[in-house]
Amino acid sequence: MILTNIFALKDNYIWILYNKSNSCIIIDPGISNLVIKKISEKKLNPKAILITHYHKDHIDGVNEILKKYPKITVFGPKNTKNYNIHKIVKGGDKIHLLANDIDVISTPGHTLNHISYYLKPYLFCGDTIFSAGCGRVFKNNYLNMYHSIQLIRLFPGNTILCCSHEYTLSNLIFSMNLLPKDHNIKRYYKKVQKKIFLKKNIFPFYLYNERKINIFLRTDDFYLKKWIGFKKNKDSFEIFCYLRKSKDLFGAKRD
Ligand SMILES: [Zn+2]
Repeated sequence: MILTNIFALKDNYIWILYNKSNSCIIIDPGISNLVIKKISEKKLNPKAILITHYHKDHIDGVNEILKKYPKITVFGPKNTKNYNIHKIVKGGDKIHLLANDIDVISTPGHTLNHISYYLKPYLFCGDTIFSAGCGRVFKNNYLNMYHSIQLIRLFPGNTILCCSHEYTLSNLIFSMNLLPKDHNIKRYYKKVQKKIFLKKNIFPFYLYNERKINIFLRTDDFYLKKWIGFKKNKDSFEIFCYLRKSKDLFGAKRD
């Protein structure tokens, strides 16, 4: 399977996964024109759209894409049923597409019914985890979000996180502000900054690296607790809440 992305709207990633016969799956198309353009350029044949959650910047392109390609099947979680979704799916389901089984993973927190899609090594995790950060927690679902992040943390290290927003630099700036002596974060920030300066793609985001530089995956890290002034017996969930709420106050991004 070959993966490509489109950088759309303000900072969204839209993902397209395709096979050697050029059949493709589109993930979270928040806009239609760039997706249709990419599909035409690459001569792809879209079979399905996968939606992680109902926010407009993930779903608004569906109608126009369906008009152009009416045979596409659209999959999404429970609360997307008013948005032209053909098949409602939930955690534990398997979707058979392009001769592969795609696992549906329940990842609530950002929204109540947020789901992710896993086709090894790709995890389309929507607004649950971003490189060096995590999504906003709406409706006070902190415990759900914490469990979703812990679940993703246990995926194989070579899992590639296909998240829906590019917030890496600002996430790293927040982390460096909190942990100014963390060499992994500092080194990664310089690497990302250089790539952006050279107009290079900073993707892929490997989980093994995120475990080092993403503070939301390190809520039980002794060093992190010490530096933010928490006692070592402080609960990992409390650390998560503290980090997420601090990020909200630190000029947080929309999602
Ligand atoms: Zn969202």
